[in-house]
Amino acid sequence: MSATDPVVVCQGLTHVYLRGTPFEAVALRGVDLVVGRGECVGVAGPTGSGKSTLVQHFNGLLRPTEGSVWVDGVRMDGRGETVREIRRRVGMVFQYPEHQLFEETVFEDVAFGPRNLGLDPEEVGERVRESLRWVGLDPDRFGPRSPFSLSGGEMRRVAIAGVLAMRPRVLVLDEPTAGLDPRGRQEILEHVREWRRQQGLTVVLVSHSMDDVARLCDRVVVLHRGQVFLDAPTREAFAQADRLRSVGLDVPRVTDVLLRLRAGGLPVRTDCLTVEEACEEIVRALRAGGSAWSSSEA
Ligand code: ADP
Ligand code: MG
Repeated sequence: MSATDPVVVCQGLTHVYLRGTPFEAVALRGVDLVVGRGECVGVAGPTGSGKSTLVQHFNGLLRPTEGSVWVDGVRMDGRGETVREIRRRVGMVFQYPEHQLFEETVFEDVAFGPRNLGLDPEEVGERVRESLRWVGLDPDRFGPRSPFSLSGGEMRRVAIAGVLAMRPRVLVLDEPTAGLDPRGRQEILEHVREWRRQQGLTVVLVSHSMDDVARLCDRVVVLHRGQVFLDAPTREAFAQADRLRSVGLDVPRVTDVLLRLRAGGLPVRTDCLTVEEACEEIVRALRAGGSAWSSSEA
């Protein structure tokens, strides 16, 4: 998919903050990356590895110090009308996006972006209602409310609705579940899957939760000290537990359990990505001659 229809392409992307000052920080060094249309790519890596810096190049918020970034075949370093138009195709949900809610009602907040596009009021209303439904909030019930009367998870979903209302083709989510309780996390992640399916969105999910990445992403890109440390299909990436742990990353809990069982002598595959898949695999291994294992271990 990525080889035939690239949406975002980074070539030799280097980003240096505060260059030439005592605070100079090289955040990215020579990153090559292609995101294909319709893919869901997880960007993982320890704190400070360059994840947020990388994705802010995708809509031109940051400019490369060296190298280049292309979106839909347009180089993102100019200012002209084309670049402006392309930037709109990339929706960016920042970490803690609820901090950017500022209107009196949920409706007004979600309407802010589409109104700025110069759409007529009817179309704006249409988009607001649709986007609220996409994030699982009933527009009639939530539209008139103050964003500040909502729960943390609901506020975040309103902020995401505001980005979806711009109808991006690529959705970048920077730590979308950070600080939410398990239920809030679950709700957001389930919706990401839906948007992808219904709208054919390309998704870039920045996360240090390997559980989230395992559940949603087709592919994982691991950054370490501003460089691509690993870029592989999700199953392959998590099969390299030692490599991931060497840069301080966890493996998904599912992988961890399977690795322990395997170390204990049960011949299970360790590349399962969901709890359901892992359960099936454990049952299979026990049935296929693990009975000796289960009686000796138990
Ligand atoms: P991550 O999102 O993986 O935690 P960042 O992209 O935020 O990593 O940061 C990468 C590096 O760039 C870090 O060393 C960080 O301190 C530095 N950095 C990030 N933003 C700035 C900034 N605005 N000014 C100076 N240095 C920054
Ligand atoms: Mg970050």
